[in-house]
Parts: sequence; structure tokens; C-alpha cells
Amino acid sequence: MMSQESSEQPTIMALSPARTTTLLSNLSSVTTRITIATSKCTTSRSAPRLVAVSKLKPASDILALHTPPTTHLHFGENYLQELQEKARLLPPTIKWHFIGGLQSNKCVSLARDTRALWAVESVDSEKKASLLDKGWGDRKSDMGGEEKLRVFVQVNTSGEEAKSGVDPAQEVVGLCRFIREKCPRLKLQGVMTIGAIARSKATTPENENEDFICLKEAKDRVNKELVLEGEDALELSMGMSEDFEGAIVLGSDEVRVGTTIFGDRPPKDQARVV
Ligand SMILES: *Cc1c(COP(=O)(O)O)cnc(C)c1O
Repeated sequence: MMSQESSEQPTIMALSPARTTTLLSNLSSVTTRITIATSKCTTSRSAPRLVAVSKLKPASDILALHTPPTTHLHFGENYLQELQEKARLLPPTIKWHFIGGLQSNKCVSLARDTRALWAVESVDSEKKASLLDKGWGDRKSDMGGEEKLRVFVQVNTSGEEAKSGVDPAQEVVGLCRFIREKCPRLKLQGVMTIGAIARSKATTPENENEDFICLKEAKDRVNKELVLEGEDALELSMGMSEDFEGAIVLGSDEVRVGTTIFGDRPPKDQARVV
């Protein structure tokens, strides 16, 4: 087929009809799978939030899903610069989640300078929590966002050395307490895990994933020790492309799905926002 692009001015955000159709169909099948998994839960509950993980994918892919009538709202990104660039280009109605490894020296900028930032999911130290709290306080009102910045504490549920996150027994309670007591501009929204690849590959709706059980136990422990109930009770952010249905059956409140919606990601040095 002849490409028509060469004869046109390059548009910042050209939406290809074919790509849009693929993305909408992928999103719709993930949504259906979420609905089915939710219906298998023993207690009746609403479907979890779906964060569409768009890291290393172009801004046009995000716009295709954020356009009516679909207007998907929650998108997740792993790299600060990429997130800030996308958040500047795309409508401020998107709710951005930072889900990547968090470096202390970038926390202030993340909280202060990212338009429409909705949540930071990878908080794993008191220092980083304090810096996010400070950055949110320095934020200009035209950057969007609510009174408090939602944060999730990342928990290392698999015990792998290379994974970031606090330990699920003691540290998680301490860090959650610190955020609640010492970070007035942060709202402790929940706990998050990535988990071991091998365990997610073995996860089916019938085969329970140890990482998810571990995170659920950590959440219950924090809720109990800090007496968090109702609006304050913590959420579980767990489940990705390989294992989101199993995570939902174990009570996940938020799944983060990338590849199943957007396809395989390019290497980082080949990724382009525009
Ligand atoms: C990349 C990423 C995801 C999405 O992974 P997929 O396997 O592509 O669905 C979810 N959570 C985190 C923290 C990630 O870094």
C-alpha cells in the first residue's frame, strides 16, 4: 500500500486508522477479560482500575485510546523525561501514573513538574516520600492534580535482590506510617508489587501467585496496624499482561497492563514520543 505521509506535513500526532483500530480492539479485549475475572471473585466487587502502561510507545498511541468515545483515563509510564514530555503534549484530562524505578534526585521534579500526575506507585524509602511531598508543595496550580498526590509503596514480594521495594514484613508498615504521619501532601493509596517473572508465567486464574498473596497479606497488616478503614483502607496494585486475571481473583484493585494493549515495546534507545 502507498504511504500518504510523504505528501503531508508531518503532524505532531497523526492517528493512523489501522493502528487506532488495533489499539481499541486490544483494550476492549483486556476490559472484557477484566470483567470476567472480576465476576469470578468470591465477594462481589467492582472491576479494578486499568492502568494502560504506555512506556516506550508513541504519544499518538495514547491519544488514540484517550479519544472519545473510549477516552481511557489512566496511563502508566516508567521514565521521568518521557512521562513529562508526553504529559505536556497530551490532554490534561489524562491521569498519569509513574510506575518506574524512582531515583531520589528526580523525586522533586517528578512531583512538581509533571502535568496531571495522578499517582506515584514506586515509593520505597522515607527519603523519596519526603522529596515527593516537598515537590508537590512547590507545584504550580496550572500543573493540574488534586490537593494530595497519591502514592503506593512498592513491596519486594519475591525477595529477589535486583527488585526494588521494601520488605513485606516490617519495612512496609514503617514506611506507610511515615507517609501517613510525616508527608501531609501525600495520600497513601496502596501497595504495589511487580513480582517474579517465573511466578507470573505460572499464574492462571486457578494457580495462585505467591507474590500476590504476599502483597495482600502486607496490605492487611498495614491496614490493621495503622487502623486504616473505609476511604483510608489501602488498595492493591498488582497484575500485568502475563498475570492480571490471577491478580484480580486475589483482590487486585488496580492492574497495570502494557504489552497486551500496545504490543511489544521497542528498545529504549529506539523509542520515540512523537
Ligand atoms: C512495564 C510495566 C508493566 C506492564 O508490563 P506488561 O508486561 O507489558 O503488561 C506493569 N508494571 C510495571 C511496574 C512495569 O514496569
